[in-house]
Amino acid sequence: MKTLTTDVAIIGAGPVGLFQIFELGLQGLSTVVIDSLPEIGGQCSELYPDKPIYDIPALPNAKASEVIDNLWQQAAIFDPTFLLAERVEHIEKVSEHSFIVTTHKQTQIHCRAVVIAAGNGAFSPVKLKLPLIDKFEDTQLFYRISNIEHFRDKNVVVLGGGDSALDWSLTLQKTAKSVLLIHRSSHFKAVKSSVNKMYELCEQLKMQFLCGQVSSFQEKENKLIGLTITSKDGVNRRVELDELVVLFGMSPKLGPIDNWQLEMHQHQIKVDTQSFQTSVTGIYAVGDINYYPGKRKLILSGFHEAALAAFSIAETVLEKDRIPTLYTTTSPVVHQRLGVEHSLEEMLS
Ligand code: FAD
Repeated sequence: MKTLTTDVAIIGAGPVGLFQIFELGLQGLSTVVIDSLPEIGGQCSELYPDKPIYDIPALPNAKASEVIDNLWQQAAIFDPTFLLAERVEHIEKVSEHSFIVTTHKQTQIHCRAVVIAAGNGAFSPVKLKLPLIDKFEDTQLFYRISNIEHFRDKNVVVLGGGDSALDWSLTLQKTAKSVLLIHRSSHFKAVKSSVNKMYELCEQLKMQFLCGQVSSFQEKENKLIGLTITSKDGVNRRVELDELVVLFGMSPKLGPIDNWQLEMHQHQIKVDTQSFQTSVTGIYAVGDINYYPGKRKLILSGFHEAALAAFSIAETVLEKDRIPTLYTTTSPVVHQRLGVEHSLEEMLS
């Protein structure tokens, strides 16, 4: 079991969780950030990385992925520890300023406060809905590729019609024995160049594409050996395979958060707007996951919430009545934390 110790555990590495690192860093507090996704950025990275956002203050037009890059650049200075591809399952309150956060991999984070920046919940892969197929998960059925070598010289079937399905089909095609892409229609949600490349490779007989849906699977001696594919006109086809990769996209699930015994309002965590603390002292909630009268699920609202939560956490953890507002422009204390030194003359000029 891995154990980490920090001032604050942040659950969620979406835009608001990332800004929370920075705001806590300004207060001199260290952070561990946990996300169920293997990369940072939450909805921005997972759902719309290439779409421009127009309402981030001082960034008139930036792609969602650029907003995340900038947030990371700003937060990195405080050297947070990331636990990616780990889902938080439990929060245990040990005493007034002591918590243990546990992930599904049994990693434990000992901390003095917890910030839940969990958006609409933990992103997890949309599963293939076929009874009993899940027994092959992680041996022959994969929802994510972490080791491409596993597929070398194998007959691979890829399901899906988005960017990941197309990108992985094109990549696997270089080393697998065969690649068959199956999608329910010939309309793809992927960039045109990838779709064109896929058709080009099919023309050259370097891979195959089949339009239809998986209706059943075949197994032999506990091994997945084939699928039945039903096309729109009702014709069934059998395909043989060694490995099955399902890339139907990711969807957020509130999951364990519902069991953390926090006061909720329609699947959002109730907070007070002075501190963004939840109904449990020492546990805070910021960004899309929280609720208060007038709440708007916007990135800029989350930024404001993260700033006020950081002040409140600093006051509680450092046991101070009120933390003064320090300007990043002029405060020597903040400059020291940011690692930027300015002479007195510079600051006064
Ligand atoms: P999220 O971005 O949802 O991140 C939460 C993270 O927490 C996720 O990565 C999730 O995996 C993780 N997580 C949740 N539970 C757990 C757990 N138990 N363990 C570990 N990890 C967990 N907003 C704007 O302001 N302007 C826009 O123009 C705009 N355009 C949008 C366009 C689209 C198509 C969509 C879908 C949203 C848009 N939004 C926009 C909304 C914006 O993306 C959200 O407000 C923002 O992403 C919320 O950030 P967050 O950090 O609170 O949550």
